[in-house]
Amino acid sequence: MTSTATDAPARTVDTCARVGVIGSGIAGASTAFALAYRGVDVIVVDDATAGQATAASAGIIAPWVSTSTGAYYETYAAGGNFYPEFLKRLIALGIPDLGYRRSGALVVNNDPDTLAEAAATIRERVAAARSVAGENHDVDAAELAELFPPIAPDMTGLLITGGGRVDGRVLRDAILTGARQYGAKFVADSAQAITASSRGTWSVRTTSAMDEFDALVIAGGARSADLLDRLGHPVGITPQRGQLLHLGLRGVNTSPWPTIHPLDHHYITPFDGGRIVAGATREDGVGFDVRATASGTKQVLDDALRIAPGLAEATVLEARIGVRPMSTREGALPYAGAVPGADGLWLASGFGAGGLTMGPLIGDGLARLILGEEATEIAHLAL
Ligand SMILES: Cc1cc2nc3c(=O)[nH]c(=O)nc-3n(C[C@H](O)[C@H](O)[C@H](O)COP(=O)(O)OP(=O)(O)OC[C@H]3O[C@@H](n4cnc5c(N)ncnc54)[C@H](O)[C@@H]3O)c2cc1C
Repeated sequence: MTSTATDAPARTVDTCARVGVIGSGIAGASTAFALAYRGVDVIVVDDATAGQATAASAGIIAPWVSTSTGAYYETYAAGGNFYPEFLKRLIALGIPDLGYRRSGALVVNNDPDTLAEAAATIRERVAAARSVAGENHDVDAAELAELFPPIAPDMTGLLITGGGRVDGRVLRDAILTGARQYGAKFVADSAQAITASSRGTWSVRTTSAMDEFDALVIAGGARSADLLDRLGHPVGITPQRGQLLHLGLRGVNTSPWPTIHPLDHHYITPFDGGRIVAGATREDGVGFDVRATASGTKQVLDDALRIAPGLAEATVLEARIGVRPMSTREGALPYAGAVPGADGLWLASGFGAGGLTMGPLIGDGLARLILGEEATEIAHLAL
């Protein structure tokens, strides 16, 4: 992003303000919730276009086992640490289903040396986040088969007991329900044009109405770049397609099964009711084409069955496709903060492959920034 006003303080608002949020994925929903929670009048606009990353996501909340490093990892880990506090806020509202379960994360490999090398880093990370990440211990082939019966017999592993998994759709809806309970409103429409007024407000034109806000948050996922581009504020966010498959194991209690991480980009997430999610592709250069393709499906199945051949007879229930908002700046660092040179305009996007984990933390921090408070935990995500 280029700007002539990067050093000017961002214009903040007070709790009497009216704030618009474009996008109701994890970024927009979390920001809207955090603003409404603090008494702000919030309107969320979302057009439910196919490809929402939050709706497709695999739901793994176990940053410690990821291959990410540097500031991206620190943000990812901080997001994991914030989850229990965030979920408490929703539980306090009496929202019955958050789609979350702490069922453990299991790192697996068939090469003991590869596993041992990765385990050293993971153990350090888990120790640094002990209250959330829980304990860890080595798992031999016999215990592995008890914890996750479809696993290949030549694997051994490392179990992190605090690993969690969440149904992105259920959590998103729970957050929006919570935001509504604090007074937020939801508009199911497309934000077609955004304009800055001379009064210092932001107008959003949807297909059916025009609305005016004291501050506006762009949380449009991978489409955020296009929205900002049209306003003359280019930002480095590109779409990355992720295809995953939902498999079904009839009559099997998969609820307590941990998530499976074979030290690669693919993984397996068990949910309740025999549902197993296998994913995911990472496809750059295909834009917003949200089809399930033959090669994507093959890749996901090949990866999953190599790790867990016991899934071979599972039913293929559905393919889900989401478009990850990938940040192109150094270290793939997400964006959260004021848009320089555009008073009252804010951005929360570019969360990449760990956004379901980071979203609540970043949304909470951004809401405080908009209200003129400190949010040191996301200061490094400024534009
Ligand atoms: C296959 C896959 C698996 C993943 N697995 C994990 C995981 O296991 N753990 C994890 O932590 N993260 C995971 N992620 C990453 C995570 O899902 C994303 O980083 C996160 O959901 C991004 O959230 P978002 O709100 O920025 O974008 P989105 O969820 O894409 O939401 C953006 C919303 O903005 C709306 N919008 C855009 N433009 C407009 C407009 N002009 N008007 C109205 N509405 C608009 C869109 O319709 C959409 O609903 C995964 C992602 C994918 C694709």
